[in-house]
Amino acid sequence: MKIIKFIWKKILKPFLNIFLKPNCPLCQRSADREFCQYCEKQVWRCQFPGGGEIFPGEVPVFIWGQYKDSLKRAIAAMKYKDNPQIAKPLGYWLADGWLASSVATLDKVVVVPIPMHKKKERERGFNQAELLANSFCEVTGLQMRRNGLARVKQTQALYGLSRGERLETVKDAFVVGKDLRNRRPRASVLLVDDIYTTGATVNSAIEVLQKGGIRVVGVLAIATTKKPRGKKPRLKSQKLFNN
Ligand SMILES: [Zn+2]
Repeated sequence: MKIIKFIWKKILKPFLNIFLKPNCPLCQRSADREFCQYCEKQVWRCQFPGGGEIFPGEVPVFIWGQYKDSLKRAIAAMKYKDNPQIAKPLGYWLADGWLASSVATLDKVVVVPIPMHKKKERERGFNQAELLANSFCEVTGLQMRRNGLARVKQTQALYGLSRGERLETVKDAFVVGKDLRNRRPRASVLLVDDIYTTGATVNSAIEVLQKGGIRVVGVLAIATTKKPRGKKPRLKSQKLFNN
């Protein structure tokens, strides 16, 4: 079975796709690009106003959109239904939003994707964070250090775990990878992941890099479950002002 799946995925499907336009992975209608026009619009509706949301902190986090509706379905289709091609437009859009933001910095920066455990990556056939980082780099012209980090611990899905459990799960999950290990880079690192939830995973990665003397200047992700900041307090202060 495995060999048939391999032949289909790696040889026949790409070969057939030269002749047949692949369907939209979200609605199965024919599409000229990765998504059909309708679904592309729907995914864009999940983008944060202003091109993306910045979550400030010691290391600022830039996120393209809210993890909901069509963006959530697009990420699921990419990861779980074998549609790595979806990473391409998502990475481009992430780059466009980030370049227009106040946290963009192109000076002496390299891009490091959050790695998957080798076994998991073999099963999936790709690491979506690496594919996102790759198309992000095509737009920004930044260099990627594919193996800037390595995942040494296979972690379970963090979904549904408490904060404490998450921290415990991702503790010691990473080491500095071979691309950054032997020679401490003069460049700082931008981390790229697909989904940002509590930040437990990226914080664990940041800690490992910082311990290795490597500066991390930002985190980028295509989607977050976190709500954009600032909305509630703004309403409150408005109310106070009116009173
Ligand atoms: Zn569609």
